[in-house]
Amino acid sequence: MSTTGQVIKCRAAVAWEHGQPLVIEDVEVAPPKAHEVRIRNVATGVCHTDWEYMYGTGEGMKPRPFPLVLGHEAAGVVESVGPGVTIFSPGDQVIPLFLPQCGECERCLSPKTNQCRKNWANTQMGVLADGTSRISCRGQQVYQFLGVSSFSQYTVVPDTSLAKIRSDAPLDKVCLLGCGVSTGYGAALKTGKRVHRCGFHSCDSHTVRLQVEKDASCAVFGLGCVGLAAVMGCRAAGARRIIGVDVNPDKFAKAAALGATECVNPADHGKPIQEVLAEMTDGGVDYALECVGSPAVMSAALESTVDAWGTCVIAGWTEREAMKVKVEQILLGRTLKGTYFGGWKSVQDVPRLVDDYMNHKLKLDEFITHNLPLDQINVAFDLLNSGKSIRTVITL
Ligand code: NAD
Ligand code: ZN
Ligand code: ZN
Repeated sequence: MSTTGQVIKCRAAVAWEHGQPLVIEDVEVAPPKAHEVRIRNVATGVCHTDWEYMYGTGEGMKPRPFPLVLGHEAAGVVESVGPGVTIFSPGDQVIPLFLPQCGECERCLSPKTNQCRKNWANTQMGVLADGTSRISCRGQQVYQFLGVSSFSQYTVVPDTSLAKIRSDAPLDKVCLLGCGVSTGYGAALKTGKRVHRCGFHSCDSHTVRLQVEKDASCAVFGLGCVGLAAVMGCRAAGARRIIGVDVNPDKFAKAAALGATECVNPADHGKPIQEVLAEMTDGGVDYALECVGSPAVMSAALESTVDAWGTCVIAGWTEREAMKVKVEQILLGRTLKGTYFGGWKSVQDVPRLVDDYMNHKLKLDEFITHNLPLDQINVAFDLLNSGKSIRTVITL
């Protein structure tokens, strides 16, 4: 029986309040409104950002309203589309996106950025274009984390926050391209794109990529999903030295398998890690990629780059904290940059990343250490927080 136009009752993991375990609930998911798409989530990864929002100190992330359904690293199938939706049809395989690409705004037309702002203020606060969410539980509105909510069997997203992907892609693998792997991989390969003055906004041939270059030396801080994907990106760029840095040595074997040439545990040294790295590389690395989300590690990463041309890329997520930068550290020539979703233009680039996986250019299976059903979602959080997992993929 068709569910089009009907409210769908399904299961979701609801976060009722900060710091408390998620609760599996029956929820109601309303039909899509204009320019919205209702999708059946098939698989979702559990990202550190979900954990941070739920269990972090509150320093890291801006407050957003509860109750909400977390999850933003998913893949699924279109169930139905709202009025005005032209490029999606029921049955399409898709990846929902926490970063939209409307294709029309000034930022979408510029090669300098992937920061489309379509529906941004609303989705950041957990609602869609009309100011409400499509999910409810026990008669109460449930907010959609980053506008997505993949810890639910069904959700509704704007049609500019959805990438159509090939029909033969395994959804329980490519879900990782919805956040963690794309972010880290792009931090190495995409982030440093700089634009020549050319007058044509969309002219790609007049851009210079400041990606990690062939033979560069790199240090990747934090070897979770994002950091390991950064290691994979450094290797794809042809870096000569890729130094993995993590306080958990259990991560080193996987880092080596993905391309790290050596690994360092800051706890093994009696001096700051930036000094250790400077000694190992005769003055500092060309690129440092921060994939932890800690301001102290961000400062260490910047200081571990070579003073004359080193580039530090911040992928770790914190919204309210500040990092320390002594002016001298950038005065001599270092560059400090951030990356959001790896710099990818989400709607156009995610399907290409799926192709790269299908063509064996990019790895995903290696990142999946656990598979669990939705009712074990709190176990997935424990595995992530205790450092035992890279990614748990939840089957919905
Ligand atoms: P994760 O928890 O799987 O990995 C973090 C790693 O950092 C762990 O291996 C941990 O042992 C290590 N670590 C902790 N303290 C350290 C220290 N002092 N020095 C070195 N290593 C240390 O997390 P993840 O899912 O890979 O996410 C990493 C970060 O990226 C988080 O802050 C997350 O919020 C952020 N993130 C950002 C974006 C973006 O668009 N920029 C997207 C996704 C995730
Ligand atoms: Zn994420
Ligand atoms: Zn846009």
